[in-house]
Amino acid sequence: MARLVMKFGGTSVATVERIKNAARHVKREFDAGNQVAVVVSAMSGKTNELVAWCKEASSVYDQAEYDTVVASGEQVTSGLMAIVLQEMGLPARSWQGWQIPLYGSDAHGSARIEGVDGAGILAGFDRNREIAVCSGFQGVNPRSHRIVTLGRGGSDTSAVALAAGLKADRCDIYTDVDGVYTTDPRIVPKARRMDKVSFEEMLEMASLGSKVLQVRSVEIAMVQRVPTYVRSSFDDPENPNPGTLICDEDDIVEQQIVTGIAFSRDEAQITLRRVADKPGVAAAIFGPLADANINVDMIIQVVSDDQATTDITFTVPTADYERARKLLEDRHNDIAYQALQGATDVVKISAIGVGMRSHAGVAARAFRALAEKGINIRAITTSEIKFSVLIDAAYTELAVRTLHSLYGLDAA
Ligand code: ADP
Ligand code: ASP
Ligand code: MG
Repeated sequence: MARLVMKFGGTSVATVERIKNAARHVKREFDAGNQVAVVVSAMSGKTNELVAWCKEASSVYDQAEYDTVVASGEQVTSGLMAIVLQEMGLPARSWQGWQIPLYGSDAHGSARIEGVDGAGILAGFDRNREIAVCSGFQGVNPRSHRIVTLGRGGSDTSAVALAAGLKADRCDIYTDVDGVYTTDPRIVPKARRMDKVSFEEMLEMASLGSKVLQVRSVEIAMVQRVPTYVRSSFDDPENPNPGTLICDEDDIVEQQIVTGIAFSRDEAQITLRRVADKPGVAAAIFGPLADANINVDMIIQVVSDDQATTDITFTVPTADYERARKLLEDRHNDIAYQALQGATDVVKISAIGVGMRSHAGVAARAFRALAEKGINIRAITTSEIKFSVLIDAAYTELAVRTLHSLYGLDAA
């Protein structure tokens, strides 16, 4: 007997018919004698609709009320899943975030999990192996007692945190692909499914744009040592494939230099032209951005054509682009730049692999390959196990495919 958390994402519960199919996976695990907690997302498209309603109601909506609205999507699915399981003759009940309770910080809209109290769910396991069907994405703040949500894609994080809280043997993330691929299989048909991927690489891939898992879910899986699989809800429930295991680097025998390519369109570029080249300028630009909670990612500084001033280019999340622009325009006199230019039609392409620690020249090969395709690089960043380039969005697919082939990742 094992204790499992099974998470089903939006497409896997998009209709009552799909919920019934997901329930057959749950029944398989229950019939095998396991204790099962299920975590569900909202039906696909539902959260987007709820977010749009908040925006329609007010352009400056209260974040706590936003959470109240968007958390409702998961409440519907958890109730429906419990009904379907009961209909199949299984003991099941739904649990909302506040009922579990799953505690979250007061950062409404992107709360961090502070703890999970699994006592109620465990009592149900002991009583009659009751299946706990939990609403993902939502929790409650222990001080304000208000509903909080965990950021888009947050049901993954609910599932892994619940698995840690319940001391589960495994967390299975069921989705619409049968595992983690070397890159998004929707963009590169030749992408390959991996049997295993290391925590570190998955963390980088997720934070650099592979939204198959929410970044925080990978952080928790890594820190709390939760064996986590990504697998398909569309497999035959009687005969499923194991999917991809996220595990320690040491458990992977055949290590590639580059294991994956990620891309993110959530990036915008800002360039300040002809900024005075003197001490304190970088602080004058990036200090206020940091104070406004705007994350700056790539930064490059080059001497301007006049040799006396400097051009500074950096990227911010697309969602913060307008705010960053306004903030810098308001400080035009302090920073003393000649012009501010911005671009949102850019994409960040990244290559990830723990093998980069021990191999030189990995990024240089990419620069050459992209140049040969006529793709101009606007900015570059590198770190121990990844490098990223910022390019025109129009070249996204070409660039991803080029790097995917370059590092030998294409399926035969
Ligand atoms: P869910 O609704 O189940 O949470 P998501 O849409 O959040 O599903 O995540 C699954 C999607 O992630 C896939 O359909 C795929 O297009 C995308 N994806 C991006 N990068 C990868 C990757 N490297 N491997 C697998 N899927 C990926
Ligand atoms: N329903 C939420 C979203 O669409 C959470 C999730 O699906 O993980 O972002
Ligand atoms: Mg998701």
